[in-house]
Amino acid sequence: MLSEFENEVSNPNILAKKWLSKANVKPTKQRLKIAEYLVGNGKHKHITAEQLYEMCREGDVKVSLATVYNTLHCFCTVGLLSEVIVDANRKFFCTRVDDHPHFFWESTGELTDAKIDNFEIKNLPQAPKGSKISKVDIIIRLSKDTE
Ligand SMILES: [Zn+2]
Repeated sequence: MLSEFENEVSNPNILAKKWLSKANVKPTKQRLKIAEYLVGNGKHKHITAEQLYEMCREGDVKVSLATVYNTLHCFCTVGLLSEVIVDANRKFFCTRVDDHPHFFWESTGELTDAKIDNFEIKNLPQAPKGSKISKVDIIIRLSKDTE
């Protein structure tokens, strides 16, 4: 979704504004700042609310953790971000919104995109009667190979 920006040498503020306007999100000061941290370098990012909150604090952006959460959920609702739940204590927000698998690096607690060509999910179990599959998350957990 960021691809249209990738070749553009631009400043974070302009990228953030463009990104918000794609989803018709009103660019308040706080939203704009948070958007800058998410997409300001034109690259995809995986980040937790806590990490983003830390960045805001270090960048002298006055914002509460609750506001960071609310803003991230707002961005998800309008389709700017996707949520990736690794476990009960770890939820990441990914700036890529197409279906794609993730690597979770157990040693560092990092989440990255798992690069693959022609990604395809085949032979899923049938959804029980009266339900449908709304989304399939693939998180591949990586540990250190000590061999
Ligand atoms: Zn991702």
